[in-house]
Amino acid sequence: MIVMKFGGSSVADADRIRQMGRIVRSQLVRQPIVVVSAIGDTTDRLLEAAEAALTRGFVSVDAVEEHHYNTITALDSGPAVQNSIKPLFEELRSLLKGISLIRELTGRTRDYLVSFGERLSVRIAAAYLATFNIEARPLDAWDAGFISDSNYTAAELAPTCEEGIRRSLKPLLDSGILPVVTGFIARDEGGNITTLGRGGSDLSASTIGAACGAEEVQFWKDVDGILTADPRLVKNARPVDSITYEEAAELAYFGAQVLHPRAILPCMKTGIPVLVKNSFNLEAPGTKIVARLNRKTGPVQAITSRNNVTLVDIVSSRMLGQPGFLERVFSSFAEYGISVDVVATSEVSISLTLDAVHDLGALRQSLSRIASVEIKTDRAIVTIIGDVMRSSEILQRTFGVCAELKIPVQMVSQGASKVNISFIVNDTQAEDAVRGLHANFFEVPPDPGDE
Ligand code: ASP
Ligand code: MG
Repeated sequence: MIVMKFGGSSVADADRIRQMGRIVRSQLVRQPIVVVSAIGDTTDRLLEAAEAALTRGFVSVDAVEEHHYNTITALDSGPAVQNSIKPLFEELRSLLKGISLIRELTGRTRDYLVSFGERLSVRIAAAYLATFNIEARPLDAWDAGFISDSNYTAAELAPTCEEGIRRSLKPLLDSGILPVVTGFIARDEGGNITTLGRGGSDLSASTIGAACGAEEVQFWKDVDGILTADPRLVKNARPVDSITYEEAAELAYFGAQVLHPRAILPCMKTGIPVLVKNSFNLEAPGTKIVARLNRKTGPVQAITSRNNVTLVDIVSSRMLGQPGFLERVFSSFAEYGISVDVVATSEVSISLTLDAVHDLGALRQSLSRIASVEIKTDRAIVTIIGDVMRSSEILQRTFGVCAELKIPVQMVSQGASKVNISFIVNDTQAEDAVRGLHANFFEVPPDPGDE
């Protein structure tokens, strides 16, 4: 069997859903399980509706509702689906009404609210597939075994979840049913709806793949695969034809938008090949994500960047030896629940980066007993994913590019996963750095002695 996941833009309207149908039908013999995101940007629209209810007491989901009904009408998939989504819109309206009355929006309510997007889209997608004599069945995550913790808006799936997924979905496949499962959402032990973080449908799909032993997990997107850089920054960015699980995971974590950061792990663990394809451009071969590359690549596979990063320099006041110092520093971060991304250490100092969202006052105070602390905001992490065996070459060329562009490099770190080299620059210089590096690594013909 295979898992085919369609992101929001791949099911954005009736035309896109027809295309989804063609793609699914062309692979029916491989026994697909389909996972879908909310239609188009429904998730954002629902969040806006919640905001309007919360701040202005204004309750409306008319535009979302109209788009869903128009889509159903255009697809002509029969009255049953209309009846199945009507109660969902009623429930959604009552929820918004509730938010507008109590003027409160907790993480739990937010998750409940956005869950309607995926619950609507599975019903519409399954009803459309059924018009081709396919026995497609829409399933809400909880009917497909998805149990998570209660960390609303960024829930983690329970370790036992794969067993439950297998037990729910395998019998359906065995009796010739095509399950169409909601991405993104789950339910906690108390029965509350949760979400897996924005873009979480990828994780839903890869978890199903791992649970059911899929021969492949396909992510259908609106780009030609994983690209060498963000196409909004670099106009010559091009798809990478294959990449390892580790490389893809690092890329996703360090800011490439193409996959949910945790989505690779279930497939990596089980060795299931992943294919990232463009539903808008079937000709493009897409990107394969595999355990090992069996081709020769250049030194660099892709470049990404993440803005809005804070750099913290911590210099020991020498009251502790280095091991004690590192331990104290990291336990302070743990104590305040601040997660650190990139780290570089020396005998007496540590530089590290964090997302700008944290309030660092208490942390600074706690550290000031053993170190002097300098906090620098408005930085960016530029991450180069490449072949660690060639890291000297990568570093040399990187420093060359930055020197030429007069971009000071404020810290460098080579990831433990061995595929990533990250460095910190000012926020305002990240785009130029990425463009310069892309030109250097991808746009210059390779040295003939090199290949
Ligand atoms: N619909 C959710 C979002 O927009 C989940 C997803 O698309 O994967 O984040
Ligand atoms: Mg979406």
